[in-house]
Formats: sequence, C-alpha cells, structure tokens
Amino acid sequence: MKRAGPLKALISDQKECVIVKLRFTLISLAAMSLSLAACGDYSPTQTTTTVPPTPALAAPTRTIVMVWDGMRPDDVNATDTPNLYAMKTGGANFSDNHSTYPTFTMMNSSSFASGSFPKTSGFYGNTFWTPPQGAANTIPVGKSAAGANQDYQDPVFTEDYAVLTTLNTYYGGQLLLVKSLFATAQANGVVTATIGKSGAAYLQDLNQGGYFLDENTAQPRSLVTELQAANIALPVNTTFNYSSTTSPVTLSATNGSPTARAGYVTFNTAAYDPNGVIPIAARDSTDATQGAPEDAANKYMMSVFTSYILPKKLPMLSLIWFRTPDNVEHGYGPGTANEKAGLRSQDARLGELMAGLKANGLDTSTNIIVVSDHAHSSVSGPTGLYPLFTINASPTAPNGAIVNGATSGTSAASLGAASATGFSFSGDVRSADLLTYRGFQAYDGNGCSTSAMYGLSATGTPTVPVKLDAAGTLCGAVGAKYQAVSSTLGTPVASFKVPAPGSLPTNGVVVAANGGSDYFYVPSHDPATIANLVKFLQRREEYGAIFVDSRYGAIAGTLMMSQVNLENATRLNNGQPDIVVSFNWDDTVMVQGKPGIEFESAGGQRGMHGSFSPIDVHNTLIAKGPSFLNTTITVPSGNVDVAPTIAYLLGLIMPQADGRILNEALVVPSSKSTPAVAASSVAPTSAATGLSFELPTDPTGVTKDATKTVGSYSIALAVKDLTVDGKTYRYFDYAKAVRQ
Ligand SMILES: [Zn+2]
Repeated sequence: MKRAGPLKALISDQKECVIVKLRFTLISLAAMSLSLAACGDYSPTQTTTTVPPTPALAAPTRTIVMVWDGMRPDDVNATDTPNLYAMKTGGANFSDNHSTYPTFTMMNSSSFASGSFPKTSGFYGNTFWTPPQGAANTIPVGKSAAGANQDYQDPVFTEDYAVLTTLNTYYGGQLLLVKSLFATAQANGVVTATIGKSGAAYLQDLNQGGYFLDENTAQPRSLVTELQAANIALPVNTTFNYSSTTSPVTLSATNGSPTARAGYVTFNTAAYDPNGVIPIAARDSTDATQGAPEDAANKYMMSVFTSYILPKKLPMLSLIWFRTPDNVEHGYGPGTANEKAGLRSQDARLGELMAGLKANGLDTSTNIIVVSDHAHSSVSGPTGLYPLFTINASPTAPNGAIVNGATSGTSAASLGAASATGFSFSGDVRSADLLTYRGFQAYDGNGCSTSAMYGLSATGTPTVPVKLDAAGTLCGAVGAKYQAVSSTLGTPVASFKVPAPGSLPTNGVVVAANGGSDYFYVPSHDPATIANLVKFLQRREEYGAIFVDSRYGAIAGTLMMSQVNLENATRLNNGQPDIVVSFNWDDTVMVQGKPGIEFESAGGQRGMHGSFSPIDVHNTLIAKGPSFLNTTITVPSGNVDVAPTIAYLLGLIMPQADGRILNEALVVPSSKSTPAVAASSVAPTSAATGLSFELPTDPTGVTKDATKTVGSYSIALAVKDLTVDGKTYRYFDYAKAVRQ
C-alpha cells in the first residue's frame, strides 16, 4: 500500500502546468494553448499573478489548512491568540460554522478529507466497531503505529495511521467512499503535504500520494532519507512503518523523540472510596506547570514544514493538524491555566507558519484557513446534583520526569470544598455498565478502569464507588481497581470486554464509547432489543437526543439516523451503528468562565466534545489570503464545505461532496447568487410517553426525578436550510432531549 515515490519525482516539475491546463481545458482550446505556452518558465510562487482571473474558476492559489483541534470560537482573542485574532479581524470569519455530528475529531477529519457526511463517506470514527457480525465476516488484522498487535475484537480507536491503513485494506481500499480532496488534487498533479496529529492528519491522504509527517512516521520513504540527510530528527515510531520493507529505517544516535508527549498531571483522592482508603487519580486542573504537553512535538512538526517541506517541495495544498488546544482541554478543561497556555503556544505555531511563508516569499500569495474539527465543553453533570469543588493547588511541582519539555506525574494537590468557581468531579457515564446492570448483555471493550468524574454529591457521596479486585477474578489482574455498579450483581461484572467472535450473546450490545456521544451496535438487529435500549436511554437523564437506524421504522421519541446524515448502505452491518446517542448537555452552565457542560463516556476527562450541543457544534473557521474577502460571514457554513471550497481554490471540483463552495467569502466566487436561509425545528413523529425519569446520581435506576411528572420524551433538532443556485444544504445547530 506504499505509494510509488519515483512517479512523484517524474511529475513534480510539471504539476503546476497540469493545473493550469486543466483549468483552461474547461474554458476553451484557445486559452489552453496560451497556458501551455506559458508553462516553460512557470514559477510556482507566482501562481496568482501569472494566471489571469476568470469569472468561471478561481486562479489556482496555494492554500494551507491549519486545524486547531477543539478550538472554541470564544477562545479567539487578542491576548491568547493574537495571530488568529488578526486573521479574524483582517480576513473572512465564519460566525456560524458547524462541526459534523457526532462532533468527534475523526468524524470531522473525514469531513475535511471528503467534503461529506457519513451517509456519503461511510466513515464512523473516532471509535467504531468492525465486527464479526456473521460467519462470513472476518476481523481486521494489523499492527498499531507503535508496532504492537492491534485489537479489533473490541471497538477500535482510529487516530492511528496503521489502524487506518488496516481498515482501508479491510474495506477494499474504500474506507472513504468519496474521492478525497487530496486524491483529487494529486490526480491533477498538485503537490500536497500533510502534517500533524496521529490519524486525523493521515486520513486526509489515505492513499499516500503526498508528503506526510505525523507524530508517528514520515512518508514517502524518500522523504525519510531526505530528512535524515538534512539532520532532521524523525518520530521514533518511523522504524515500525518500514520494518517489513526492503529499506528499513535506522534512527541516528542523536535522533531523540521529537514527538514525545507527557501524560496529564494528576493528584490522588480517596473521595470515591466510602471508607476513604483507596485512592484514584484525578486531573489536577490547577496545574500551571505543564502547559500543552504536546507543545514541543507541534513545534518540531511545524519546523519541519516551514524549514524543509515548504521551501523544498512547494506544496500547493497543505494541511497541518495539531492536537492543541483539544488535548489540554480534555486534560484540564476549557478556561484553565494550562488550556490558556495551549492557546498561546498554538497561536505561536500559526505565527511560525506565517513567518515561514514570508521567508519564502509566499506570504501574499498563500491562503491560510484556520479551522477546528469541533469546539469543546466541560465535562459535568447538572450542578444542582453535582456541585463543583475546589482543588487545593499543589505547593510543589509534579513528581514525574520532564517529557519533551513538559512536566508530568502526580502533584500534591487535594480535593477541597464545594464551590461555584471550582472544578467538576462529575459527568462520566459507562453505558455498558448501566446496561449490564439493567439486564442487557453489553460490552465496550475497555476493561476495568477508574475515574474521578463519576460524580460526588454535595455531601461527598460517590455515585460509583471504587473497589479492589483482590483475587483478580473480575479484572484479570490481582489488586486492580475498578468502578462498576454491575459488580454488585449476583454474577458481578466490571470489565466489559467484547466476547470472542462467534460467542457474543444472541442479543448482545456492543458500545463504542466515544466521549460526547456513544454508538450502540446490536448485531442481531432484534427490534425488541432496540426498543428496550431506546426506552432505557430515554429514561436515563445522562442521555440526550437518540438517533436510530431507519430499518427499525419510526420509534416514538427518536429521530432516524438518516435525518442527521448517519446512514450509509455500504456500511450497514459492517461499521454503521444501530443507535447513536448524544450525551445530555447544558450550554448555559459555566465552568472556569466558559459556558457549556456535557456528560461523557467514562474516561476521567475534564473537557469533552462529540455531543449535539450548540457549544460542541459551533466551531472556528477563519480564512485569510488572496482568495478571501475581509468580511464576517453570518450565513451558516460547515466543515463539509471546507474541502469543496479548497478544491475550487485549486481549480478543481469534488462532484461527490455533500458540502458547498463558500462563495460568500471569496474574491472570485464561482457564483454570485445570494443564499436564502430558513431556520426550523425537527421533532420525532410522536413523543415517547409513560416514562419515568431516572436521576444520574443513582445508577441502579431506583431514584426517579420528581420534577418531571408528565412522563414524555421527545427531541428538538434545530436546523438551518441554506438554499442557493437551486440546491439546499442543511446545517444542524443542536439536538436536545425534551423530558417532561
Ligand atoms: Zn478531543
């Protein structure tokens, strides 16, 4: 599956001409002959000045997409992000941009790659299940980027180039069912470069037709040779990528580990043990020593781009995806000291990109598009049930080693008193545990685990107490700690690993726990199991809007997955979930000065995304450069629109994409028609009735919510329909569970 390096070398000198030729072929033969005559002395740095503008197509213009993972639009300001703030005030700011739901990284990575929703692309990241759902189906087999055997019996996390390569093979080279932006560009001779976050960057160039560097490897093999010859270090896992080839990679003695990343700083608390003895780790959100743990890795990757790939390869299309601020938001929560440090370092990377363009004389001829995959919320249950708590800051630095410039380890912080200005210790939900307790046979593959985010009441009572598996019978390891209400059953359960292929119970449920939304797979597709599962989700107040595969028909109080672009016939029974549920959210509650809370799949995070809240959905999109107007765009736009717009900027088209060209922001639009926008709300055909609602504070379901007595559950899906040039594009603002 490795790309052919020599072919690239053969065409690299002619690629700019090919673009120009393609453009003019569409216009007239006479124009084409003119363009061919100009190709002999064509200079890539003068693209926008050597090609006369036409009303039909934009002049191919060098474009760089910089993805700020998890960047909230309300974090753009002159203090923390001065470079991005200057782009916002001096360029095109999209004030109503929409992340693709579920608002995960890899889901939006696929939207950036394909300009499409899962209904078209067939991709269901972050974590999904490629299951042995029948005797004829086999499980994928392969390694991870770190060289280990990858588990595919349990749901798989796709932020890994080796996993994506294995899955692409498993799906016959069709992991993305749409010809991507990068594949379209490369087919027309455009040089591309992709840099950054594991998995998210790689999916852009799945077919490996361009230059690539992420946290694990570099491609093609010739680029590895070039970087080593230039004394540039490589990610240490690069060796695994080439270990089975005829040209394995040996790192130099001074290579080091330029993409190493510290874990989060934590402190120990025994608050989850009713006896106050067993400690578990909690995130130290008061820490201000670490900053963004990936800071040095990002700086390294940006440096390779600006000092080597940009000047040597002159890519016309580049995408640089850094995991900041998302990674620090997960670790400590939006609004915290480390998150703000992350914003400042990410903005410094943008400054380095701008300086790199200027140093190469490319600054005035290059478009920069800054976009986030999604925004970010604080993890918390309702503050009426779960108060925020102070953390008493550590007087000493954390005890771990310095990793690539960042502190690590355990601090001496401690849990303090309830306080409205404190931090959350609630919001975690383990669906497989709650379902198992209620009689379902449910698995998430995540094993025994602990989290300090399962919830502490105002009096300090833990919702899910921590226990020790003294004999190792529940967790498979003597002395393992776990939290699981199903451990109190007659046949206790705490691990939830997926049974081996062929041994899943008849109506077993596999949960792909994803953060702000969960996927439920019911391989039997038994309608009664689906109906019971829906009722369970409607009763439990941790869950928000519920979407069910339309094969089950209309189910009261649910919307069909097709109504939010989540059904794909090619992936039916092979990757597409049966039910997708957003966790419940509240966009008005503030934590650390930032609005927006949500429940999450248990993981101990202080920040999360993936839900259908308006906070997670509304993300950052700002563009500046010769192709963009200086304007604020108030009509809706979306992450699916980014690829078709870039294709247009390169003189290309993506006919399979769901998104549109964002003409309202362009100096030379493909159409000058004015879009019409209509907002409305979509609801299920009928509400579910006769329900009693269960409080999150009691995972057994016994304690009901006395404030909601009507017993009905429905959904409000807020949409905006944008109609332009005879086509209508639907944007989703939020989906909210309505319990009465
Ligand atoms: Zn994230």
